[in-house]
Amino acid sequence: MPISRKIRKRFGQNFLVDKNIIRKILLSINPQKTDCFVEIGPGRGALTFPMLSHIDALDVIEIDKDLAENLSIHEQSSKLHIHCMDALKFDFKTLYKNGQKLRLVGNLPYNLSTPMLFHFLDYSGIVEDLHIMLQKEVADRMCSQPNRKTFGRLSVAIQARCQIKKLFDVKPNSFYPKPKVVSTMIRLIPDRILKDDLANQLNCVLKLAFSKRRKKISNALKTLFELNDFEKLGIDPVKRPENLTVDDYINLSRSITD
Ligand code: SAM
Repeated sequence: MPISRKIRKRFGQNFLVDKNIIRKILLSINPQKTDCFVEIGPGRGALTFPMLSHIDALDVIEIDKDLAENLSIHEQSSKLHIHCMDALKFDFKTLYKNGQKLRLVGNLPYNLSTPMLFHFLDYSGIVEDLHIMLQKEVADRMCSQPNRKTFGRLSVAIQARCQIKKLFDVKPNSFYPKPKVVSTMIRLIPDRILKDDLANQLNCVLKLAFSKRRKKISNALKTLFELNDFEKLGIDPVKRPENLTVDDYINLSRSITD
């Protein structure tokens, strides 16, 4: 297969080259023949082709035209549906057929991992699970618990909708070119569907709260809530945004939509 040798930094291209890690990822994903998989950023196919030996078909979304073209002329390309476009603009609903939920996989470009996660969250109702690799620092924020500095908007937005499990870390020398940071493979399983109006309200509350994380919650959210709103929900208004729980944020958002 003619490989595009150009490494496009702007697309966060760090290709997996460590066969042991690729095997470990496959074991974690445990692909089954008729699963409906979508891979984000297949690149040179490090995960794509090993996955294809277990499944019948695979949708892939790749922004780099040269890499997409290389994939299209590979001997196994007949099993691939290639979408050459920005995954942030991809409508995953177009792949949801006959009630079969999607399984998403990706070694995400570092610069895009947070916006990609927020984009996936819009589709959590049609997703069975998500196995993604991203920088360890982002994985730590996703899993973080209240009262920690790393607990923030991303932690709440993810944990409000998904179970999250850190699978394993991956060192820079498992990639070419080597990234500067350690990566982490994680699994997300959506376990709560938020209706659109609640999801939108949660998003507003989180943006506002964590843009003022050193303030008391009653101050940070003063444009949305009165002091007694916090008391009614059993939330101490002098707490800081990082001291509230995921359920506190859901209850606050729900009190606006109800
Ligand atoms: N999956 C391959 C691997 O593990 O070797 C490549 C991983 S590399 C970290 C990220 C891949 O995502 C690259 O192929 C890059 O071109 C692609 N990519 C970057 N931004 C993208 C976007 N917005 N939409 C779709 N693909 C994107």
